Amino acid sequence: MQRAMFHKLLIANRGEIAVRIMRTCREMGIRSVAVYSEADRNAAHVRYADEAHCIGPSPAGQSYLSIDAIIEAATRSGAEAIHPGYGFLAENVEFARRVGAGGMVFIGPKPETIALLGDKTEARRCMKKAGVPLVPGIESCIRSVQQAKKTAESFGYPILIKAAAGGGGKGMRVVYSPSELAGLLKLARSEALNAFGDDRVYLEKYLQAPRHIEVQILADQKGHIVQLGERECSIQRRHQKVIEESPSPTVDARLRRRMGEAAVEAAKSADYTNAGTVEFLLDRDKNFYFLEVNTRLQVEHPITEMVTGLDLVREQIRIAAGESLRINSSDIVPRGSAIECRIYAEDPDSDFLPSSGTIRTYREPNGPFTRVDSGYRVKDTISLFYDPLIAKLISWGRDRGQAIERMRRALDEYVIMGITTTIGFHRRVMAHPRFVAGDLSTHFIVEEMASLSATAQLSEEALEELAVLACTHRFLTEQKERCALNPVTKNNSNWKYITRYRNVFGN
Ligand code: ADP
Repeated sequence: MQRAMFHKLLIANRGEIAVRIMRTCREMGIRSVAVYSEADRNAAHVRYADEAHCIGPSPAGQSYLSIDAIIEAATRSGAEAIHPGYGFLAENVEFARRVGAGGMVFIGPKPETIALLGDKTEARRCMKKAGVPLVPGIESCIRSVQQAKKTAESFGYPILIKAAAGGGGKGMRVVYSPSELAGLLKLARSEALNAFGDDRVYLEKYLQAPRHIEVQILADQKGHIVQLGERECSIQRRHQKVIEESPSPTVDARLRRRMGEAAVEAAKSADYTNAGTVEFLLDRDKNFYFLEVNTRLQVEHPITEMVTGLDLVREQIRIAAGESLRINSSDIVPRGSAIECRIYAEDPDSDFLPSSGTIRTYREPNGPFTRVDSGYRVKDTISLFYDPLIAKLISWGRDRGQAIERMRRALDEYVIMGITTTIGFHRRVMAHPRFVAGDLSTHFIVEEMASLSATAQLSEEALEELAVLACTHRFLTEQKERCALNPVTKNNSNWKYITRYRNVFGN
């Protein structure tokens, strides 16, 4: 149903994605309404919005996941539509229903479509019927260890236990032999119950080092579905994406067309509307298998925007307002190449442990063909309440080589101090010969971690220099502390000690 374009839109999210959606709202002349928790009182998305409403305490369960609080803020503000972003309530069926019941428009698919595709076994049944190739596996949930054993034998080990309600790589366990099955089944069930409140699990054949390739789709309310080409998201950690690129270095025009057609069939079979992503695994022989449909805007959507020239958020808003898509799949030919690095507040050298604290220095890269979607500024605090994504750095080049060169330059320019980030890790991936050659798989990080650690790519001399610098730093810090306690030397500068250091150790 066509309706007048919205005047006011509430964004039920925070961080970089909230800011990114608000930017398009501003371009479209739509007033943006932010919601925020107590911890986010001064957050970037609150500062950017035209209007902001507090929705509760810092824990997400009491704020960004509170359907009542968000609907109440939307009603109070007079918003006509709600964009959920990704994560939080983006794929929550009840939320989508409540938005509609409150007389507002949910920017996403119909609640029934979210429900169908949110259950991985139901989604598999639906895709099987539509003739979309599936990862070998079953379409019903496991009821007993006995049944699991029989199923596993029919596909052959290794197999993967997956949560029916799964997401974010949670509730997944690889089983290599029958003896592990009962224990891992129990573990996967309790993990799924904890994460999703639903302990149903099923089995898929575990594919050996596949590539993750996904297709972006758009579907309007009149049933016109368009596929916008693929993104490769094989650089993953614990089944979660870290670096994405479009187009995939391994997908040729023919495979792109075939995968695109399968994605359109998948969308059609689920009566899909709005933006969505059909995820596939690609094996070494370039066979592709349906994995799932994400019924929302993806974190990595900017790389598709860079190679297609389309603003996906604008398209989402237009579709939700009942407007028709003005493009066809055949119009879409990727132009150049785009890469996205997710900049996390994590320490790659301590098993990617989240890092929290205040950002002391913050300088974003700039320059030709570089985009930064960020949700933080200097003096902002990264708290442990939320996902540690600080920003997404995106580069574009006329080919993949140039996109990599630009990404390296942009990573070198990016300065974030006060917390540990993954910037250095990304630099090392961008310099890695396997990455440069496009030789990717979902096991890339696990296989190459030894050569991706902070010290791995340094020469002997550089390592020695680092050791000396560390000693100098420690020496200067100790001297400074001693000076601070001594009123006579209190105002002396470090230069005196550097000179002394040089006298002792030489240059
Ligand atoms: P989630 O919904 O939890 O993100 P997905 O089904 O989308 O789970 O899978 C996430 C990632 O897990 C994939 O990109 C891939 O790396 C890995 N994976 C999932 N299923 C399989 C499989 N059958 N074989 C090998 N790897 C898999």
